[in-house]
Amino acid sequence: MSLDTQQLLEFDRKFIWHPYTSIENPLPVYPVESASGVRIRLMDGRELIDGMASWWSVIHGYSHPVLVQALQEQAARLCHVMFGGLTHEPAVDLARLLVDLTPAGLNRVFFCDSGSVAVEVAMKMAIQYWQSLGRPAKNRFLTVRSGYHGDTFHAMSVCDPVTGMHHIFAGNLPRYLFADRPQVGFHDQWDEADIASFAALIERHHDELSAVILEPIVQGAGGMRFYHPEYLRRVRTLCDHYDVLLIADEIATCFGRSGKLFACEHAGISPDIICLGKALTGGTMTLAAVLATEKIGEGISAGDPGVFMHGPTFMGNPLACRVAVASINLLLASDWQKRVLAIEQQLREGLSPCRDMAHVLDVRVLGAIGVVELQEPVRMERIQAAFVQRGVWVRPFGRLVYLMPPYCMEAADLALLTLALVEVVAEEGKT
Ligand SMILES: *Cc1c(COP(=O)(O)O)cnc(C)c1O
Repeated sequence: MSLDTQQLLEFDRKFIWHPYTSIENPLPVYPVESASGVRIRLMDGRELIDGMASWWSVIHGYSHPVLVQALQEQAARLCHVMFGGLTHEPAVDLARLLVDLTPAGLNRVFFCDSGSVAVEVAMKMAIQYWQSLGRPAKNRFLTVRSGYHGDTFHAMSVCDPVTGMHHIFAGNLPRYLFADRPQVGFHDQWDEADIASFAALIERHHDELSAVILEPIVQGAGGMRFYHPEYLRRVRTLCDHYDVLLIADEIATCFGRSGKLFACEHAGISPDIICLGKALTGGTMTLAAVLATEKIGEGISAGDPGVFMHGPTFMGNPLACRVAVASINLLLASDWQKRVLAIEQQLREGLSPCRDMAHVLDVRVLGAIGVVELQEPVRMERIQAAFVQRGVWVRPFGRLVYLMPPYCMEAADLALLTLALVEVVAEEGKT
């Protein structure tokens, strides 16, 4: 039995929860028939140029033949096998690549299934590390405002208490420490005052801190902001000085999005723990990875109970690992730096007309990320329809209208995308 489009939409509306939506009053959803390259094809035949890379993940475009082939070959051999007591080539190949590519010193790999769980794993590692060392009082976290680290419970506790989407759960969450959000932009002149709030908190609380957790350079869903590399360098130095671990949440930034393979490279620092997700499989399968230093691995193993206490059912899924290897190799074999740089330049020019609009607060671009911040939240249903009508897929949230296209997008398509954005944002200003 196959439903026609109308029936499909009715069923969807009646029974399915979409991300952050109401059951009573859901906004319209658009049914997708297929997607290929930078285009999403709707069931009515319309094609949309994709400005979102499906939330940072589809860096090579949709249905890339190399990735599809990797999945098919792996599916014919081994779709899944438990990771307790067993191992396989896709997991080992991927781990070798990740150890090789990530900042120096990160050489213990833990696979899990989503970004939020990677954050949970990283935070558990930090807590268990200090327990093992006989310092259980070091079990809290310090972060910065405007951050976003996922939807699960401990991840929520370090999301921005206001913009992080989880304030209604505040009563159920541990209360951690929030430094002022970094103010100095990526391209601005560094100002020493920017680190003062963070420095004061770590100085006062280091005895109870297991780790600092933050998104390096690019703050994603908590505000789409780009801060100065010197801020990150100072965080690293302060963590070293006060014996606090540093967790870099690179779930959104990993694999080139900010112009570097990993955003930590902008500051030339290595964290003690790094979380990877989103673009890890080129947007084909859900997969995340946490890498830690040898010191953390040894610390945890030397203590009681001597093992790291985590192990998801689908850990190291062979399909996901195999396609991640294929995606990373595809990226490394491409001229991705040049492409991301070209996208950055084109976004800067293409979005610049928004700078002159009275209802626009800021326009900022870094790597293949372009952000237009409005004075007021967008009218979601109206603006979504306006984008679809213009043949592009852009999904704003709150006051933010932003683009993060697949790296393979040609200049002509990107021009259509930025033009549509400028026009739709201009209309948004008219009441
Ligand atoms: C998306 C995101 C997460 C959560 O990842 P999910 O796969 O959605 O669970 C965590 N941290 C950052 C920085 C993210 O952008």
